[in-house]
Amino acid sequence: MLRVEEVDTYYGQIQALRAVSLEVGEGEIVAVIGPNGAGKTTLLNTISGLTPARSGRISFRGQLITSLSPEKIVRLGISHVPERRQVFASMSVLDNLVLGAYHRYGHDDRREIERDLEFVFEIFPRLKDRIKQAAGTLSGGEQQMLALGRGWMAKPKLLMMDEPSLGLAPLLVKEIFRVSGELRDRGTAILIVEQNARAVLELADRAYVME
Ligand code: ATP
Repeated sequence: MLRVEEVDTYYGQIQALRAVSLEVGEGEIVAVIGPNGAGKTTLLNTISGLTPARSGRISFRGQLITSLSPEKIVRLGISHVPERRQVFASMSVLDNLVLGAYHRYGHDDRREIERDLEFVFEIFPRLKDRIKQAAGTLSGGEQQMLALGRGWMAKPKLLMMDEPSLGLAPLLVKEIFRVSGELRDRGTAILIVEQNARAVLELADRAYVME
């Protein structure tokens, strides 16, 4: 489904990724683990087009996406849940979720979008209780649920998550990983970056270690 081949990414003169290759198959959960500064976040940002690769190839379902813009990559079915959640703090929980589906309005049946919203509330009932609350006032764990829900609202074929366990209590980490397994069972492939190697290796089908 996703093939990353020999990718190099730079920040100005600084090379952050050196010849990185990786694959994600249909319906797989693939983990990327590695120490701080290895380039895990950069890898996800490169795949989603936020920090484009300087060389190498990235293809998604047979299409070359290396030089596409982030908004085109989202439309092809790759959704990115960024590190430290990055929800829209002054907007409500509901508006954050609806924004996740932004590119679907005008294409998809609205009822389908509403069904997906219901599904997010089903897996994270706490979000439903806080539907009108400003996202910036949610707890860290609730914000992570929201970021994951927002990512899901894009109806991705591949969901990329950057350190979803960061700063969460063990029970919440378990909850986030349980939901990840459920999304996979619904046919979404998942690429997940984690520091919490022990927990993520229990969830993942395969894993890569970045040096
Ligand atoms: P962590 O586990 O600490 O989040 P990571 O594996 O996700 O780390 P990255 O955030 O991808 O690592 O960083 C890879 C390297 O690129 C680091 O050396 C970092 O300092 C550098 N880097 C990241 N962003 C920038 C930037 N905007 N400008 C310059 N260098 C950067």
